[in-house]
Amino acid sequence: MIDRTISRISGVHALTLDIEEYFHAHALCRWYPPESWTRLESRVVDNTARLLDLLAEAGAHATCFVLGWVAERAPVLVRRIVAEGHELASHGYGHAPVWAVDRAAFRADLRRAKAILEDVSGVAVRGYRAPSFSLDPADRRSYAVLAEVGYTYSSSVHPVKLSTYASAQGPIRPRTVEGVFEIPVGTLPAGPFGNLPWAGGAWFRLLPERWTRWALARLVERGEGPVVFYLHPWEIDPDQPRPPRLDPATWLRHYGGLRRVESRLRRLLRLTRWDRLDRAYPDLAAPAR
Ligand SMILES: [Zn+2]
Repeated sequence: MIDRTISRISGVHALTLDIEEYFHAHALCRWYPPESWTRLESRVVDNTARLLDLLAEAGAHATCFVLGWVAERAPVLVRRIVAEGHELASHGYGHAPVWAVDRAAFRADLRRAKAILEDVSGVAVRGYRAPSFSLDPADRRSYAVLAEVGYTYSSSVHPVKLSTYASAQGPIRPRTVEGVFEIPVGTLPAGPFGNLPWAGGAWFRLLPERWTRWALARLVERGEGPVVFYLHPWEIDPDQPRPPRLDPATWLRHYGGLRRVESRLRRLLRLTRWDRLDRAYPDLAAPAR
């Protein structure tokens, strides 16, 4: 039998990196509350540098959703991201889930992140990704705030029922909400089983590698895409600190499969053409409002 999934998959797809520390992950917030962050070992610069090296080797580009908290402390890293031709976008400032803050705090977080990223880089920032995909796709008022602050697109929806994401029931295709173009992370719709996850994060680490290739190939075959894939710098860092007394579910979600990621990513980068979101979706290059 010929395995069609091994051949190169057509199209240009969007690679996205959420640039944050291991201790920013929402799954670990019980162990690493915000007041502890400045005392913890920073690993984001080295881990992101490894990701950027892998992308450079493969000739691939990405959209980097950088957390404002990180940009403030690692401006050289932000400038490297831009200098190497990647798209700079915003992951907000403090990584609080959208549903956990009021609208004024959400607006302030969005403004602060955009200002820091633009000051440090000298380039306009138009894209946003909510922490932990916590933006509810039905929450039009939050999209209106994004537009008001000057973001023109968002990739904050991961429409998977099996998760705790706010967007579990969300649409799988891009659409415009309150003037903001929302581009969901890739999922494979499977009828009564809902949308199946595959395009990054723990799904990429824990599920069989063959599933990633197969799902991407099926979406392309169905005429879907460009598809959005996501990863974090801490996902190629098996040696990151681990808090004591982790429950098995949290352990699996954050630490499961970390040792596999670098080799899987190398193969993924060869599987198709990966590029920035604003090139995979050229309409995003429109000027900010
Ligand atoms: Zn994040």
